Amino acid sequence: MAKYDPKSLKAEEFINDEEIRATLAYAEENKNNVELIDRILEKARPVKQGNGCVCAGLTHREAAVLLACEIPEKIERMYEIAEEIKLAFYGNRIVIFAPLYLSNYCVNGCVYCPYHLKNKHIARKKLTQEEVRAEVTALQDMGHKRLAIEAGEDPVNNPIEYIIDCINTIYSVHHKNGDIRRVNVNIAATTVENYRKLKEAGIGTYILFQETYHKESYETLHPTGPKHDYAYHTEAMDRAMEGGIDDVGLGVLFGLEMYKYEFAGLLMHAEHLEAVHGVGPHTISVPRVKRADDIDPGMFDNGIDDETFIKIAACIRLAVPYTGMIISTRESAEVRAKMLRVGISQVSGASRTSVGGYTEEERPHDTEQFDVSDQRTLDEVVSWLMDSGHIPSFCTACYRAGRTGDRFMSLCKSGQILNCCHPNALMTLAEYLEDYASPETKEKGYRMIEKELEKIPREKTREIARKNLEAIRSSNSRDFRF
Ligand code: SAM
Repeated sequence: MAKYDPKSLKAEEFINDEEIRATLAYAEENKNNVELIDRILEKARPVKQGNGCVCAGLTHREAAVLLACEIPEKIERMYEIAEEIKLAFYGNRIVIFAPLYLSNYCVNGCVYCPYHLKNKHIARKKLTQEEVRAEVTALQDMGHKRLAIEAGEDPVNNPIEYIIDCINTIYSVHHKNGDIRRVNVNIAATTVENYRKLKEAGIGTYILFQETYHKESYETLHPTGPKHDYAYHTEAMDRAMEGGIDDVGLGVLFGLEMYKYEFAGLLMHAEHLEAVHGVGPHTISVPRVKRADDIDPGMFDNGIDDETFIKIAACIRLAVPYTGMIISTRESAEVRAKMLRVGISQVSGASRTSVGGYTEEERPHDTEQFDVSDQRTLDEVVSWLMDSGHIPSFCTACYRAGRTGDRFMSLCKSGQILNCCHPNALMTLAEYLEDYASPETKEKGYRMIEKELEKIPREKTREIARKNLEAIRSSNSRDFRF
């Protein structure tokens, strides 16, 4: 039987079934152990250090105890600390992005995904480079600066050369004052050589959802195609890092398996990356299975309610304080608002999950990957974020200044975030307001910028930020950053 070893490069050793089961048993035994729970909560709290803050994070066992705990006042405390951590490292900034679906050709048999090979009634489509340009122009016209590209797995229709061509095309489009400054990539597990090619093409984060950490379920849920190979999929992030990509994004598709099992697996994966590569995941996504063509989420018996979902997010926030957390438009505005409080730092906005969806007037459904719950426009999302005190940020500075991997974590810990990320968020918001916002959003946005500028501690930085904001307002000068 495989033995647990976070430093191992073998999937079954770093995501070890026996260790997960022992963790769940320990959590169950201790879910009412108030003394232990208080100690874990205390450990999770941010502590002042110099000008900044540090957080110890939690082990998968400690975090599992919190997730198992059902004592209402302790859960409330988890939410409070999650919010404290979020404010310490991410402030009130929320980064905005959009997915761009390149192709829904797929040779896999994933039973929860409408792109599965046997689905004969979904229209198959792959964007030409001309169509990529049109989609990117439409996305720029909304105000997007950051994309996550998505594609099915198909070595004939979507080989790595096609993905690289698309990335080059995306970066080459400069429509009016628009440009896409960061392309994150969500494609199937691949080889070190292909990851190197993605790195050379200038990608931001490589995102790959594990779907489920439970090996047997994984094999049943992916009955055919290359994705069937659990070890190859689970070890993908190690290959990505070997290929030079140091920002990787993890995720579980909640609803497929028991959430407590997934939660422990997810944190063990993060611990493994830290142990082997010295840097944890850049982001964690928390998608839930949605209705889609040929897919009824009711087919899976592990659906979770909103309360549990929010508790999972808060516990992730406590366990991996420096990792960004992403929520997509799979979730309603209501759920997204609650998730923002407990730790989410990135949201998608005005997403279309169909291939070629952004150039269509009406939301098309024929090639859609899943039903989008939050169907608001980007302007509505921006305005809504500001109404709840969040700064919508289109910032891509860290990655472009080479602050990836552990260099991003160092910035988090240094206390320089308010002199760096905060003005960057305000300047990119101003770009949005000038170039794309409705008059009401623009007015609201500038009121927010004025107020938020005062939070920049260093006077010199504040002055430069003011000057840059003035330039954005009075000319076509764009893309300032600290
Ligand atoms: N094809 C790539 C792969 O296999 O990893 C990645 C792209 S896929 C378009 C992105 C993600 O969508 C998948 O990893 C899966 O978690 C999610 N997804 C698939 N079907 C879904 C559904 N019915 N509801 C919600 N999310 C779904």
